[in-house]
This record gives sequence, C-alpha cells and structure tokens, in this order.
Amino acid sequence: MRPLDSAAVNRLATLFRAGATDAAAARQLNIAKSTAGLWRRRLGIAPAPKQPSSLRSPLTVAEKWQQFVRPVEDGHMEWTGRRRPGPSAVLEFTHHGRVHSARRVAFTIRTGREPEGTVTTECERAGCVAPACVEDEPGRTRSRRHLAVVNGYETPLAECTRGHATAEHRRYDRDGRPYCAACHALTHTQKADAA
Ligand SMILES: [Zn+2]
Ligand SMILES: [Zn+2]
Repeated sequence: MRPLDSAAVNRLATLFRAGATDAAAARQLNIAKSTAGLWRRRLGIAPAPKQPSSLRSPLTVAEKWQQFVRPVEDGHMEWTGRRRPGPSAVLEFTHHGRVHSARRVAFTIRTGREPEGTVTTECERAGCVAPACVEDEPGRTRSRRHLAVVNGYETPLAECTRGHATAEHRRYDRDGRPYCAACHALTHTQKADAA
C-alpha cells in the first residue's frame, strides 16, 4: 500500500467529516477504496451515513404505468401522462430517473418481453395504450399482412422495383397496402440530406 503523506491524510479526514463515503473519498484522492477505509478506522471516524433509501417510488415500472392510464370504452386506454410533442406524439413517463415509453411498457405487460423496433397503436383509437392494442415491428407486420391478403393487396413479387428482397423489407400501412421499408428509409434519408 502506498503510504499517504500528511496532507493527503488531512484531506481524507476533512472529506470523511463532511460525510463522504470511502468510495467517494478514494476517488477524490485517487487511492484504493480499501485504503480510504483503513484510514477512516485509523482516524476513528464513523462510516458515512447510508443514503436515505430516498424518494424512490416503491412502484414497479408496470405499476407506475398503470397510474397514467384511463380505461375508456371497449377496452381501449387513454394516456393521461406526459406527451412529447412531435409528428407522432411520444407518450412517456419517468420511473427511477429513467424515461419509459407508454406504448413499449404496454407491449411488455402483454407479452412479457421487450419489443423489437418501434411500438405503435394498432387499434382505430389514436393514442390508445391498451396492451391489447399495441404492436412492435414484427407483430405489426404479421397482422397487417393478414389485412393485405384480405384486402387483396398482397403481391407475390420477391423484390421491389429497386431490388430489395420482399421477405426482409416488405411492410404494410394501416390498410394493408404493402411498401418497401428499404426504399422508404432511402427516401427519408434523401429528404433529410436535402434539408
Ligand atoms: Zn385501443
Ligand atoms: Zn425497395
């Protein structure tokens, strides 16, 4: 162990008396935490008080989500929490300092897993956050493909006009009309570049 000079020991003592933890004091002096602890005992200074288990909500993410939803007719749910304005309003809330998307949490409540890609409201009620009414990318593509078949929009083509493979890139709009996600992304990038 590197011996500490008296200036460093004095500094440690000052930090400890000000309530610093061993870890915090060790960081300040660039020494090992165990060294700081040793000097605390030598200096006879009591351990730093534990941080109060504080104002953290005892609720889980799902329980906190529940506080911001209002059931409306036919099993749909309205979001009463925060809205981040934008082209498609982001519905969100904060839990233990982390921002969560209302739709993503709704998806996880129903399926027990993290969503893949973006999560959208798939029922006819805009902004609905009912777990039964939201879908992630693969789920949305599956259910919209059914709609495409029903509405007669599905095509047997294996590639789009630019040669992107259908199996990988085909997506559907709300009516089941197919489009190529790769072409879509390309158009949007070009627009962004032009802006
Ligand atoms: Zn709904
Ligand atoms: Zn394409």
